[in-house]
Amino acid sequence: MRSITKLELQYAHRFYKFQGEAQYLHGHTGILTLEVEDSIEPGVNMVYPCNEIQKVAWNVLKNFDHALILREDDPLLPAILGVYEKQGIKDGAPSNKMKGPAFRTELATAYPDCRLVVTKETMTVEGMIKMVYELLKDKLNIVKITFTSGVNAATQEYAPGKSIDRCPLCGVALVNGVCPKCGYRKA
Ligand SMILES: [Zn+2]
Ligand SMILES: [Zn+2]
Repeated sequence: MRSITKLELQYAHRFYKFQGEAQYLHGHTGILTLEVEDSIEPGVNMVYPCNEIQKVAWNVLKNFDHALILREDDPLLPAILGVYEKQGIKDGAPSNKMKGPAFRTELATAYPDCRLVVTKETMTVEGMIKMVYELLKDKLNIVKITFTSGVNAATQEYAPGKSIDRCPLCGVALVNGVCPKCGYRKA
């Protein structure tokens, strides 16, 4: 069975060198749907608590929220960093609190201090799905990701991974046989 959850991400981007309006900087509210598949954990009668899927995903994905997402070869990148630098906000600001841990994958690098994500490919809805899968595939048994942003939408399915041991009291993934939430220990 599947547990399905949605997250909202507000971001600015552009399609560098794309022949259309999207080559200009603009913003979106994107809706990300994550589908996690596994057996039902009998203790909680759930595959995985949806609010816990949100927590795991948000911890990483909040770096995309209220962020600027630019391709690595986009000349806006040095220009914007120059402005942030002059303004003294490049390396953080007291009001910039919603930061996840910085990450670097094959497809994306997050700079949470200046709310910037630099991507290898153009950040289309398809591109976002690839980045999200890469960031979350080892944390959750993701079998489907859907991302919609304005009139654009894309979806991708993945082969189900192995079953993850979950806490019979909380439903969250056990870490080395111990529940990180309640301390339950697998016998
Ligand atoms: Zn757009
Ligand atoms: Zn627990």
